[in-house]
Amino acid sequence: KEAYNVPLTLVSPRESLNYREDRIINLDVGDPIMYEKFWKKMGKKATIVISGWRYMSYLSGGQSLCWFLEPDLCQQILRLHRVVGNAITEGRYIVIGTGSSQLILAALYALSSPNSSQPTNVVSAIPYHSSYPSMSDDLKTSVFKWGGDATTYEKDEPYIEIVTSPNNPDGSLREPVVNRTGGKVLHDLAYYWPHYTPITAPADHDLSLFTSSKCTGHAGSRIGWALVKDPEVAMKMVNFIEMNTIGVSKDSQLRTARILSVVSSSCEQAGSSEYPESFYGFGHRLMTERWSRLKQAVKHSGMFTLPDFPTAHCTFHGQQTQSRTAFAWLKCEDDEEDSAALLQRHRIIGRSGVSFGSEANFVRVSMMDRDDNFDSFVQRISKITRLSED
Ligand code: PMP
Repeated sequence: KEAYNVPLTLVSPRESLNYREDRIINLDVGDPIMYEKFWKKMGKKATIVISGWRYMSYLSGGQSLCWFLEPDLCQQILRLHRVVGNAITEGRYIVIGTGSSQLILAALYALSSPNSSQPTNVVSAIPYHSSYPSMSDDLKTSVFKWGGDATTYEKDEPYIEIVTSPNNPDGSLREPVVNRTGGKVLHDLAYYWPHYTPITAPADHDLSLFTSSKCTGHAGSRIGWALVKDPEVAMKMVNFIEMNTIGVSKDSQLRTARILSVVSSSCEQAGSSEYPESFYGFGHRLMTERWSRLKQAVKHSGMFTLPDFPTAHCTFHGQQTQSRTAFAWLKCEDDEEDSAALLQRHRIIGRSGVSFGSEANFVRVSMMDRDDNFDSFVQRISKITRLSED
């Protein structure tokens, strides 16, 4: 803890205590900064400048149902899905939000049953994304409420099932599991991109969510988008965002439009002098290398196991690829062990399985930090052995 009290302005980051060998490595949050390396190489191609007098209005010049969506961003979202082949955009309305987090709330609001006397139950299969319960419950609205694990949901009441595929935290590929009438499904596809998982078919759902946080690594821009079939649902989501933030930052939209256009160009022109490698080629290569190092370290340690990931033909890469997810879902074989506490003793911060509705012998660790933190993480994991703990 003391390390964080060092006035960082007085020392260069490398010299600061944060970089000591025994520094705390915080892999609790899925902060996607490992992609910085790619974006540094893109230099001016990925840089935008906005004059002081531009984009001052609340409004956008487009014709979209989502009145605050910048036409440039709309074009680049459509282009990227076409290039990657991971979602059908025909017959869909695009609604943008301040991150997909805002869109999850907007979607819950729009999909809830307005005439029901009770709040609509929001469910998701364990292990679910740790934010879903608090997003559903903490506002204490009469519109929706957290209903828990989708696999055991049996109430005869309206519900919304959130299906996250690939799943955060464990990377599994998922389908809806509740099979009752009166239900709606929200597909959170934050990780359905070719650096994380094989693209096997374009997603074709009523409501899918994507985010530039995980798609390009620009979490700080806070841009997410929804592809929505039903215009009424899309309009309700727009109304929700109007109530919240009267639209979404134009500056962020323009920056995201540029970033997405560079990603698409890097895919279309991969192997050229301008784009030696596509963004997803880079991401997949880095993830593959990281996963193989982590697997070795876990094997050496003998304390943990990792989920097995499927291999499938990826239509984007044009070959068999294996899922390389954004989080490691470590399980300590000793059921009694609190895995987050165990990692903490080795100065690694992960998120306990309990936050995901699972057990304390599971812990989630981000795979997307910078190289130096990832290197130290892998080294430390390999040294956690039965012997070191006895
Ligand atoms: N959905 C999933 C599955 C996530 O993992 C995250 C971020 N961790 C989000 C949504 C929210 O992302 P953002 O608000 O940055 O778009």
